[in-house]
Amino acid sequence: MKKFLLKASVFTLLFLGFSSVFAQNSNYSYYDAFAPNFYTKNASETRSASGKPGAKYWQNKADYKLTASLNEATNEIKGSVNLTYTNNSPDELSYIWMYLDQNLFAKDSRGNAVVPVSGSRNGAKGEEFDGGHKISMLTINGKASKYEIVDTRMKVYLDKPLKANGGKLKIAINFSFISPEYGSDRMGYLPTKNGTIYTIAQWYPKMAVYDDVRGWNTQPYLGAGEFYCEYGDFEIALTVPANHFVVCSGEITNASEVMSKEEQNRWNKAKESESTVMIRSLEDVKRASKTSATKTWKFKMTNSRDVAWASSASFIIDGARINLPSGKKSMALSAYPEESEGQKAWSRSTEYTKGSIEGYSKRWLEYPYPAAINVAGNEGGMEYPGIVFCKYSSKGSSLWGVTDHEFGHAWFPMIVGSNERQFAWMDEGFNTFINGVSAEDFNAGEYQDKKFNMHLMAEMMTKPSLEPVYTAPDGMKERNLGLLAYMKPGTALAILREHVLGIDRFDDAFKTYIKNWAFKHPTPDDFFRTMENASGEDLGWFWRGWILNNWRLDQAVTDVKYVKNNPANGAIITIDNLEKMAMPVVLEVETVSGVKTRVNLPVEIWQRNTSWSFSFDSTEELKTIVVDPDNVLPDFNDANNKWKTEGFVPPAPGKLSAYTGSFSSKQIPITVEFVEEDDQLILNASGQQPLPLEDMGNNVFGFEEAGLEVKFSEDKKSFNLSFNGQSFDFTRN
Ligand SMILES: [Zn+2]
Repeated sequence: MKKFLLKASVFTLLFLGFSSVFAQNSNYSYYDAFAPNFYTKNASETRSASGKPGAKYWQNKADYKLTASLNEATNEIKGSVNLTYTNNSPDELSYIWMYLDQNLFAKDSRGNAVVPVSGSRNGAKGEEFDGGHKISMLTINGKASKYEIVDTRMKVYLDKPLKANGGKLKIAINFSFISPEYGSDRMGYLPTKNGTIYTIAQWYPKMAVYDDVRGWNTQPYLGAGEFYCEYGDFEIALTVPANHFVVCSGEITNASEVMSKEEQNRWNKAKESESTVMIRSLEDVKRASKTSATKTWKFKMTNSRDVAWASSASFIIDGARINLPSGKKSMALSAYPEESEGQKAWSRSTEYTKGSIEGYSKRWLEYPYPAAINVAGNEGGMEYPGIVFCKYSSKGSSLWGVTDHEFGHAWFPMIVGSNERQFAWMDEGFNTFINGVSAEDFNAGEYQDKKFNMHLMAEMMTKPSLEPVYTAPDGMKERNLGLLAYMKPGTALAILREHVLGIDRFDDAFKTYIKNWAFKHPTPDDFFRTMENASGEDLGWFWRGWILNNWRLDQAVTDVKYVKNNPANGAIITIDNLEKMAMPVVLEVETVSGVKTRVNLPVEIWQRNTSWSFSFDSTEELKTIVVDPDNVLPDFNDANNKWKTEGFVPPAPGKLSAYTGSFSSKQIPITVEFVEEDDQLILNASGQQPLPLEDMGNNVFGFEEAGLEVKFSEDKKSFNLSFNGQSFDFTRN
C-alpha cells in the first residue's frame, strides 16, 4: 500500500497539475517541525558545536570576604564585602556592574511596580519598612570610586580599565539593609516560640556576570527571575547574639570558638553517623539564655556561586554523614524550631537530606560541598549552595518533596550555573525532572508519585494561552510559572528519556551536559547541542514542540483496511498527526482472537507526512487499535486515539462492475478508465499509475490521501471528479 501512496502523488501531480496532498483538517506542518537550521548561531571559540565549552571558553571569577552582623532588635544586617574580581575575558573592562538584590524591597523598585493588584509571591507582600541596600563606602583598589545605583543594579566606574585575560581588581564595600519579614519567598525572618529565625540571602553586593553571550548581564531583579552568578571562593564571618546557632553555606572554621564542647562532640559524632544524631536539642535551646553578648561564626566555601546563612536562638540542630560515590564524605544538617519537631515533620529532615544528596550524587555528579543544610524558615522552599530554606510547617511527603527539590538545585543551578533570570526551565525544569527519579530512589519509593495520565494533563499543559517554556520567567504570567518553568520542561525531559532516547542513552547525554558545564555558564544551545551530540539524534523537532513553542499534540488512528479486502492478507492502518507537535507513535493492536501487538513507529514518519499508513502483519480481523495506550504523551484529544471494528463485511464479488468502463471529459483532454481488481475499483488515467479508490458508499469513491473524490451519477453513465476544490465532469464513452 505504501507504493500506492507514492504513485497517487505522482498521479495527482501530473494529471491535475498541483501537488497539495496534505490530509485534511490537520494543523501539523512537517516543514515547521523538522525545518533545517535549528541553530541560529554557529559554534564559536568559546562554545563548541558539540555543546562543550569551546577551546577558548572563559569566565570571570569573584572571590569574596564577607562579614555581617545581625541586630535582632531592628532586623538590620550590617556588613562588608572585600571582593577580588578577576577578568578572564579577552575584553578590557572600563566599568563593572554589581547587583544590589535587596533593592527589590525598596518602595520605588521596579519589582514592586510590576506586582499586580491581585498580589504576588514576589516582593515583600506589602510590608511597610525601609527596605533596600544602603551603601556607605565603596573603594576600588583602595580608592573611593564613583558608582551609580539603578534599581537592583549598581554601575561602578573604574579610573583605569581592568585588563583583559586575568586582570584583577579589589572592591571594598560597606553595606546595610533591614531584612523584610517575607523577602520574595527567598529570605526573611520567622518569629517562633524560642526566638526568631533569620534566613538570610540576597544579602551582599554581588558581581553581575560578564560573559561571552551578552557581555554584562544586567537584567533587574523583579522577583520571578532568579539569579546568574560568578563562581569564586568565599570567607564569611557572621556576628550574631551569643545564644544563636548559625548555619551557613560551606564549612565552619571556628567551631571551637562558637559551639559548646558537648555540641562539638555530637557534631563530630553526627559526621560519622549513618543515622541522625542530635547536636543541639530542644533542651539545649531552652537553656540558651538571652544576653547582650555576641559571637562571630566563621565559614568558608570554595568554588561557589553564592552563599546564604541562617541564625536563630530557636534552632534544634541534628545531622548525619553523607556517603559520596568517590568515598568522600559530606554532612547532612537540619536546623529547625520546636514547632517543626517530630518524626512526621522535621525530625526526618536530615534523613531526607542525606538520601537526596546521596541519590543525586550516584546518578548524576558527586555533590561538591562539605555540608548540605536544611533550614526551617517561612519560605515555601528556596535553594542556595550547600544550604536550603524550606517551609517550617512542612510535614511528611511535602517536607520530603520540598527538601529533595531544593537540594536538587545543588545540581541546577548551583553546579551547572545557567542563567536563571533568562531560562528558568534550565534550573527549575531540569531539577523537577531529577526530582522524579530521586523519589523512585529514596527509601524504596516511600514518596514516589503515581505517574500522571498525560492525556488528562495535556489540555492544561498545552493550552493555547500559555507562553512557550523558553520565555524568561519575568515574561510569564505568574500563575503559569509553576507549569512552564517546572512541570512542563520536567515532563519533557522525562518523556525524552523514557519514550524517545531510552534511559541509558538519555542518562549518558545528560551526565555529559552536567560534567561539561559543572561550575560554568551553559546556554540553551549548549544543552541542546550536548544532548544531540551525545545521544546521536537530531532533536530539533523535540525542542521546537516542547521548549521553543507551545505546541499541542493530537495523534489519531483514522483508518483500517485489509489488503485485497481480506483480513487474512494483513491490514493497512492509517494514523494522522493533527496538531503541530510531532512525537513518535506507539499503538496497541488487538485482533478478534485477542492477540495484542505493540507497534513502535519513529518520529521520522512525520518528517514529510501528516498522515501515515503502514502495513500490519496479521491473518485475522482486527478488533481494536489504541494510539498511545499507556497515556504517556500529552495527547490533548484522545477521543480519536481508539479504533474499534464494526465487523468486517467482505464485498460481494462483481458489485463494482457497474462502475467499470472508459470515460472522457470536455474540460480536460484525458481518458479515465475504471477496472475492478481484488474487489477494489481502480482508476487508470491516460497512462498514469493506477489509483485504488475507497468505496465511500452512495456511488462515491475516494482517495482521501490525495484529496480526490469521484461521484457517479445514479445511472453510472457519468461522474464528477473533484480534487481540492476543482471539479471535472466525465461521461461514459
Ligand atoms: Zn526550584
